Amino acid sequence: MSQDRYDLAIIGSGIVGLAHAWSAAERGLRVIVFDRSHRPEGASIRNFGMVWPIGQSAGFNLQSALLSRDRWLFLKENSDIWVNPCGSLHLAHAADEWAVLNEFAEDAQENGYDCRLLNREETLSKSKGVNSEGLRGSLWSPTELCVDPRAALSQLPPWLEASHQVQFQFETHISQVKSGVIQAANGQSWRAEKTLICNGADFQSLFPDFFENSPMTRCKLQMMATGPQPKNWRVGPHLASGLTLRHYQNFESCPSLESVKRRFGEENPLFDQFGIHVMASQGSDGSIILGDSHEYDDDIDPFRKSVIDEIILKEAKRIFQLENWTITRRWDGIYAKTPGESHYSRAITKNVRVFTGLGGAGMTMSFGLAEHYWNHWLAASSLFNEESETELKITAGIGEAL
Ligand SMILES: Cc1cc2nc3c(=O)[nH]c(=O)nc-3n(C[C@H](O)[C@H](O)[C@H](O)COP(=O)(O)OP(=O)(O)OC[C@H]3O[C@@H](n4cnc5c(N)ncnc54)[C@H](O)[C@@H]3O)c2cc1C
Repeated sequence: MSQDRYDLAIIGSGIVGLAHAWSAAERGLRVIVFDRSHRPEGASIRNFGMVWPIGQSAGFNLQSALLSRDRWLFLKENSDIWVNPCGSLHLAHAADEWAVLNEFAEDAQENGYDCRLLNREETLSKSKGVNSEGLRGSLWSPTELCVDPRAALSQLPPWLEASHQVQFQFETHISQVKSGVIQAANGQSWRAEKTLICNGADFQSLFPDFFENSPMTRCKLQMMATGPQPKNWRVGPHLASGLTLRHYQNFESCPSLESVKRRFGEENPLFDQFGIHVMASQGSDGSIILGDSHEYDDDIDPFRKSVIDEIILKEAKRIFQLENWTITRRWDGIYAKTPGESHYSRAITKNVRVFTGLGGAGMTMSFGLAEHYWNHWLAASSLFNEESETELKITAGIGEAL
């Protein structure tokens, strides 16, 4: 057994584990992070790299996303991590999509969103990547960021190590956590006062009974990326399609959303069957990430469905305009989702807590949620205290959301 003793052990070096490591270490805790891979390989390196406050519901979730945004911008200034404050455009290519955007914009400022409507010409001048055919207008939001997920996730551990003395044990599969001892499959072990399980969608390796009785689901997404666009050809903001209006919670209360949903359902039932919507983000190398689809639990199989890729590409070509459409990479990702909640945080024992289930918003929410939780746990002077968790939002200054 290692002679070192830690205040906090974190299992999982995805964005959730790293967010907690950062917040805990900033508050003076001695932190060690374990991952079975030699570098992060889970959902956190497979995403669009979109930090997406505009898609979060007003109140606690939006506040957490905006706090995350501040933390990403801090990294932009204080590390070599590439963070592009590109903003986003929700494009309307149909009357009902334009109606949804207008309804949303009506009370957006009041609800804490910083966004405004752009007409057709203003939209086209904001991004070269928009297909003008049938375009009505768009919703512009300046709050979204773009990061390169693979690069950021490999740069964060050394940055945390250097700036906050967080220790990392990669290639270390943790097989048991019991009585403050973190046991690896290779026989090594460590001692820690508290353990946070940030294992993403792996419900089997640790505490499988606990996960079996949790409400969480697993969701598989299909993604692809073009090769780099020609030199200096930048899309500008992240782009989202009319299909995306069905996907994020923020548009749920817009009366015209029903018409959008019905129309797409009638146009192609596979949109709903595979949870397809279309977004585009451009990384630092100029390539465009396109996605995605959603298949849950028993519907998840190891094989890619070419029909999903075809639909995504067809829809992308209808609403975006790129210089280079050659697809050079295709991949899948699986995340853990907590139905009806932004995340799943529960005590398993007095000193062991699980924190996962951020669904499609881990890059957006993790830094902010970790800050809220660590403020709360330390204010309650009892780490991981389940009873006082309901006060989390009060500590975060958003008490009315309770
Ligand atoms: C295709 C796709 C697109 C997405 N797009 C976006 C986006 O643009 N914006 C956004 O905000 N969110 C997006 N998301 C969601 C986001 O990626 C996830 O919410 C987030 O990455 C989850 O992070 P995590 O740390 O919980 O999980 P993971 O990144 O999966 O990390 C879990 C880690 O735990 C490790 N682990 C598990 N068990 C053990 C064990 N027993 N011992 C040691 N290590 C262990 C694994 O090796 C893994 O590295 C997307 C997700 C996907 C899949």
